[in-house]
Amino acid sequence: MMENFITDRIQSQAISDLKKVIAVPSYLSEASDKAPFGPGPKKALETILSIADDMGFKTFEDPDGYYGYADVGQGDKTFGLVCHLDEVPAGNVDDWDSDPYHLEERDGKLFGRGTQDDKGPTIAAMYAVKALLDAGQKFTYQIRFIFGTDEETLWRCLAEYNKKERPIDLGIAPDAEFPLIYAEKGLQQAYLVGPGSDELQMNVVDSFNAVPGQSIYRGPKQNEVLKSLEEHQFDADQEVDQIIVKGRSVHAMNAPEGINSTVRLGIALADVFPKIEAFQFLKAFGEDANGTNLLGDVSDDVSGRLTFNISSLQIDSKQSRLQIDLRIPVKIDHDQLIKQLKEAVQKFTLTYQDFDYLAPLYVPTDSKLVETLLSTYRDVTGDLKSQPTISGGATFARTMPNTVAFGAMLPTTPDFMHQVNERWSIQDMNTAMKIYAEAIYRLCVK
Ligand SMILES: [Zn+2]
Repeated sequence: MMENFITDRIQSQAISDLKKVIAVPSYLSEASDKAPFGPGPKKALETILSIADDMGFKTFEDPDGYYGYADVGQGDKTFGLVCHLDEVPAGNVDDWDSDPYHLEERDGKLFGRGTQDDKGPTIAAMYAVKALLDAGQKFTYQIRFIFGTDEETLWRCLAEYNKKERPIDLGIAPDAEFPLIYAEKGLQQAYLVGPGSDELQMNVVDSFNAVPGQSIYRGPKQNEVLKSLEEHQFDADQEVDQIIVKGRSVHAMNAPEGINSTVRLGIALADVFPKIEAFQFLKAFGEDANGTNLLGDVSDDVSGRLTFNISSLQIDSKQSRLQIDLRIPVKIDHDQLIKQLKEAVQKFTLTYQDFDYLAPLYVPTDSKLVETLLSTYRDVTGDLKSQPTISGGATFARTMPNTVAFGAMLPTTPDFMHQVNERWSIQDMNTAMKIYAEAIYRLCVK
């Protein structure tokens, strides 16, 4: 029989502390002294550290305000739980049924910005450890909660942590789904820059991580452009002074499932403006978001195929510029691939400019960590069907060695992250706490 460490008292304390952190809006804003991501993330960090203090953990706040951590237990090795206290803005507060910064309980659910991402899971994991302490368990590891404050944008908090602190030995990031994510593709965002043009100017820009679903052309030769779109059988509408090319937007990690309206526009423009190399590049690239026409088949047996998203088309008299997002299979050599890419785009007089790179995550499924986390999840929930997954997305797990994303959402939990009326059911939160307590018991106590 498994012991249930999560008492009623633990549950109610967890909710009352979650209330304290939800009450602190913590989205990115202008930097101020010792608050590189603005006062909100800094205050949320200090709130969680004071909660950790009250639990008896030893806390530390980075003097420059990038991150903090809380330690408990002793051992030569460190088991880390990598969390984040920043969040995305609530959006239009009037769209919410209740104040996003006041944790409200309705119909067994906890409403508020950050309940799922990532304040709720952070508190759940902390109370799982607190429950083990209350039950008199002794840890054979040092357990360290690492609190980042810049997860939703550029991860500068963890970059700073890794500059100043030693890495953990193994751990989890409670910021995704159960059972666990053991592989995340490498993520490269970059620009392809080429010569400018006097023939036309355009500025079609989406975010790096979205396949453009609609692209507007306002330049010259609109009738020819429309004809070219028709010849390619690309869906488009002409309005008074513009053409709207239609696609289907999806997240860049699923780029092959979308329809890229900017690539379609570029392909059509290649026929009308044959001298502009950026269009010739897009024509050669084609509609294959695995990048096969450019790089051949790039894939591995663990994480599948490369995805390649192009999300901007900017041209003025000085330069042309495309932004690209590559999700690189975990076993592919990054430097080699980028070298190959540089050579391939050179033919179109484009040069490669690095923007941001996140190395991949890969912890084999036959490792002790993955086997223990998976069997814990199965024993606690009885769900034997759900399998460990790979992802093109990114969690903090990849910032640390031997670390996987583990919960806190169950496969049956509806996803409200980043959405209006974000909420997490109390029952699912309790299940997550049980899983975390049992997993840490098996890994760090026995
Ligand atoms: Zn998150």
